[in-house]
Amino acid sequence: MNAAGRVVVVGGGVIGAACAHFLAETGWTVEVIDQGRFGHGCSHGNCGLIVPSHVLPLAEPGAVRAAIQAMFQKNAPFTIRPRFDPSLWTWLGRFALRCNARDMREAGRARQNLLQSSRKLWDELVVGQRLDCEWEHRGLLFVYHSHTAMEAYGHVDQLLRDEFNVAAEHWDGDELVQHEPALKVGLAGAWYYPQEAHLRPDRLLSSWRQRLEDRGVQIREYCQFKGFLHKGSRAQAIVTNQGEITAHAFVVATGALTPRLNRDLGCRIPIQPGKGYSVTMPRPARCPTTPMIFPETRVAVTPMQSGYRLGSTMELAGYDETLNRNRLQLLRDGARPYLHEPYCDPVEEEWFGWRPMTFDGVPVIDRCPQMENVVIAAGHNMEGVAMSPATGKLVAELLNNSSPHIPPGPYRVTRFRWPW
Ligand SMILES: Cc1cc2nc3c(=O)[nH]c(=O)nc-3n(C[C@H](O)[C@H](O)[C@H](O)COP(=O)(O)OP(=O)(O)OC[C@H]3O[C@@H](n4cnc5c(N)ncnc54)[C@H](O)[C@@H]3O)c2cc1C
Repeated sequence: MNAAGRVVVVGGGVIGAACAHFLAETGWTVEVIDQGRFGHGCSHGNCGLIVPSHVLPLAEPGAVRAAIQAMFQKNAPFTIRPRFDPSLWTWLGRFALRCNARDMREAGRARQNLLQSSRKLWDELVVGQRLDCEWEHRGLLFVYHSHTAMEAYGHVDQLLRDEFNVAAEHWDGDELVQHEPALKVGLAGAWYYPQEAHLRPDRLLSSWRQRLEDRGVQIREYCQFKGFLHKGSRAQAIVTNQGEITAHAFVVATGALTPRLNRDLGCRIPIQPGKGYSVTMPRPARCPTTPMIFPETRVAVTPMQSGYRLGSTMELAGYDETLNRNRLQLLRDGARPYLHEPYCDPVEEEWFGWRPMTFDGVPVIDRCPQMENVVIAAGHNMEGVAMSPATGKLVAELLNNSSPHIPPGPYRVTRFRWPW
């Protein structure tokens, strides 16, 4: 423990919660502010999958062709809403340049360090903090209808084995239904990743909030960050709609909304909101026991103890706040070919969230270049829950000037050079 001082974390999502936890643990007096309710941003209704095997970023060889094809396909799970928005087109351009084997591997290593460290930390946190979040460690299935698509994944499996030491088990259709009778007979099979875990994200955030408050962390809701007051290279206070708040250090964990703070931060964080949807229902009578992803329709299924969730789709549509019924229907349609009971009434919640997407698939976890006592932790793409503990730990290490538990280089903000 060091006598650290006072820190304000801006953003009460899973990343802000993890930062608050590790900062409080190392002696900081912590306040978390959120412009809305704590835990009600993208961290609320996501699929809750803890996925150490998801090391590869979206920017991979062939991704540009797939994205262009998807643009001309009605109701594709991945869509780009064309519009005049230079930040979107620059982002897409930089994404396209990263779609090669070398950059994919480089991002994979950076992502793996966060994912693996977080996987271990999750085990410790759930037990140590008594997080009531329906935590289960049952692995994850990639289920395929078509034999061709299933075998085509073999080259990804080989790459993950050879270069990242991540191995999946190959199950044929008969083995699959033996393990998971909720699935229909006649599917091609599945790749099974035994290390994965899952939780219920809304329960996680409300339980984590309780534990943080128990240890003295203050949480202030409906408090919007509006700018910094700084002297030289140090921020002294933040201006909010509830007045000024002074502190010795600040963490910016504002997820997909971070680019709105670019001017205040004095640097450009290239994040696009990647809109995704989920539907939460009661558990069907024939509920799967293992979480699963159907790569052919890109739908994920999370069987939680108190419910059942279908989630997915990716829409680069800017900060669009509409709940598009066609996108929600895609989730149901995408689960139907695989499961005996793909959904169950009554629907408890229909939800969308903006994933904080960087073009390289790697988050920013770094000091703000112009203010040495401000750390940015944002851009966790499709894996913010899975990467959150290691992110929080690294943020605390940066502010404590202690040696980082994983190499911090890949998460530097300076990797984004102009034009942004
Ligand atoms: C359909 C879907 C499924 C997903 N499934 C998974 C999964 O299975 N596993 C996984 O790991 N990840 C998953 N994700 C991704 C994951 O949800 C995100 O990566 C993660 O929630 C990002 O967390 P965050 O804390 O950065 O952002 P958020 O949870 O959005 O939190 C940011 C907070 O900052 C606040 N804020 C913003 N601006 C200001 C301001 N100016 N002042 C004050 N407060 C501000 C916001 O109100 C918000 O509460 C999924 C996402 C979607 C959409």
